[in-house]
Amino acid sequence: MIVEPKVKGFICTTAHPAGCKESVRRQIAYCKEKGLAEGPKKVLVVGASTGYGLASRIAVTYCYGADTIGVSFEKEAKGKRTATAGWYNTAAFEEMAQADGYYAKSFNGDGFSKEMKEQVIETIRSDWGKVDMVVYSMAAPRRTLADGTTVSSVLKTVGSEFSNKTIDLRNNEIKDVTVPVAKEEEIENTIKVMGGEDWEEWIQALADADVLADNAVTLAYSYIGPVVTHAIYKHGSIGQAKKHLYDTSVKLTKEFAGKGLKAYISVNKALVTQSSAAIPIVPLYIALVYKVMKEEGLHEGCIEQMQRLFAEKLPKKEVDAEGRFRLDDWELQDNVQNKIAEIWDTVTTENIKELGDIEGYWEDFYHMFGFHYDNVDYEADVEI
Ligand code: NAD
Repeated sequence: MIVEPKVKGFICTTAHPAGCKESVRRQIAYCKEKGLAEGPKKVLVVGASTGYGLASRIAVTYCYGADTIGVSFEKEAKGKRTATAGWYNTAAFEEMAQADGYYAKSFNGDGFSKEMKEQVIETIRSDWGKVDMVVYSMAAPRRTLADGTTVSSVLKTVGSEFSNKTIDLRNNEIKDVTVPVAKEEEIENTIKVMGGEDWEEWIQALADADVLADNAVTLAYSYIGPVVTHAIYKHGSIGQAKKHLYDTSVKLTKEFAGKGLKAYISVNKALVTQSSAAIPIVPLYIALVYKVMKEEGLHEGCIEQMQRLFAEKLPKKEVDAEGRFRLDDWELQDNVQNKIAEIWDTVTTENIKELGDIEGYWEDFYHMFGFHYDNVDYEADVEI
């Protein structure tokens, strides 16, 4: 089949198998070039198929020489419908990692469920004995709880509504958007989906099954961002979930102190991923941050961030006063943020191409689904 991008707002409903493979190949090549570092050798990544989770899986394999088990929730191809990008990424990663001599097994299904935890635990028990690192990088719109009810997360404010500029991804227009206030129940549900409860359930299940190694490390990812996004992110409904995630890291380290477990939050940079594209205001901020960070020679993508986390920050235990890894260190530098604050007030539909890196935004967007790689033949028939 000839596969073409079908973009609807902030999502692309098709994915290109050869392009996704190229995306994984490039990320692996980056890590191979950077070389090895000392670190865990048996790593479970939950949310391993796209964005920061996929980059984490690639980085630990090629920095630490680690064996990995990945969990994700993707769709396989059906009839003329392509699989999702994460499905192709996972297939490509397994193939390439195994060809390089690494163990790589993947599970596709609901990571929130008890059944998935049991399957993964059985595989760890039979193939590895124990796991010594768990990366929790799930980003989900909803979660089905143990009692069968499904709760959804929302991207709303807390307290009062907030208006600011945003970019309409359908036509690159800059316009005002008003983000509504989340109801109490919506905040609670967002915390259920994106907070630390399921992370804790994973760690508890692994420990109960006695497959969590002594002195293991576990990480989950968060975002803080500049003041202009605080109402929608840091102080918004998603921010409440991230606060819960942080509190969970503290709780896990305390509760499992006897086993020597260390639970960390890594605060990562704002980047184009399938999840971040859905947040109001954030895509416009990303287009501006790309522009300024590229000009300053500070720009990184998911793989550069995760390679820096696993090769530098984690081995050195380089954390802030709250014990978090700060991969947003370059993004939040004054020289970057002062420039963005200046641009923010003047950016319009007419000058966004000049003031922001809208091309870079869209390039990353298409790359996520395996499109717009200069060395992939998009005219060719591919097996989906
Ligand atoms: P993403 O959408 O690229 O990845 C989400 C992953 O979760 C995918 O592998 C997906 O398959 C998996 N997933 C979703 N629902 C699942 C389920 N029910 N069961 C199993 N797997 C499931 O998102 P991302 O942006 O890489 O986000 C990962 C983490 O990084 C999140 O905690 C996010 O808040 C954080 N983060 C993102 C950014 C950013 O700008 N993108 C910045 C800082 C932190």
